[in-house]
Amino acid sequence: MSDALAGIVRRWLQGAADDLIAAAVELTELDARIGDGDHGINLRRGMEAIGNMLDEADADTCSADLLRNAGRRLISVVGGASGPLYGTLLISAADALGDEPADAADLARALEDGVAAVGRRGRSQVGQKTMLDALVPATSALASALRSGSSVADAGRAAAVAAAVGRDDTRDMIAQRGRASYLGERARGHLDPGASSSAILVDALREALVDQPAASAPAGASR
Ligand code: ADP
Ligand code: MG
Repeated sequence: MSDALAGIVRRWLQGAADDLIAAAVELTELDARIGDGDHGINLRRGMEAIGNMLDEADADTCSADLLRNAGRRLISVVGGASGPLYGTLLISAADALGDEPADAADLARALEDGVAAVGRRGRSQVGQKTMLDALVPATSALASALRSGSSVADAGRAAAVAAAVGRDDTRDMIAQRGRASYLGERARGHLDPGASSSAILVDALREALVDQPAASAPAGASR
């Protein structure tokens, strides 16, 4: 059965798919500088699969199932390192979300769990020039803004800002995980492609949170 968050998750995944497909060339160029030049291609394949999943999903699919199915598609169609890592993020978030999530704070906590699972799977942490440099500050900004009483829209904006700052911080780092780690000092001066795609993913979440119709209003409520 669909739950209170399903609309937000659906709009997030669809927006992320559209935005990442639109950015595929740029992401591939970033990866060509410090990796093997396939990040945008990898994600375009994954995001097309997520778009198909959303088209096929019943209207009342719950938020955890949407996230889990999206994660599974990523793992099955994306060959590069990023597919299993983003897949882990979504599937672990789905596991953490449970059957009846009530509000955006539940989603924020679930995403923090998902990001922690990426770190375990990739044996990686903040500061190593990876997607985590955008994802960790973004999800913690989202959760802490909601805990301190910010509106859902403001929390989404805080997350997007934190992700963009984290992405930009990767420029001066040397990479300690993934292909870019073979470059040593030569990776410095370039943005990490995964941190860049993560910032796009979080910005799509901001959009879904800022622009929620009556998703969080009680049934029948007018606004
Ligand atoms: P591949 O490196 O296999 O070609 P992609 O190009 O799709 O895969 O993705 C590269 C991105 O994956 C990197 O920019 C980095 O952000 C992320 N990444 C790679 N390894 C790890 C890891 N161990 N932990 C976290 N993120 C990682
Ligand atoms: Mg690559």
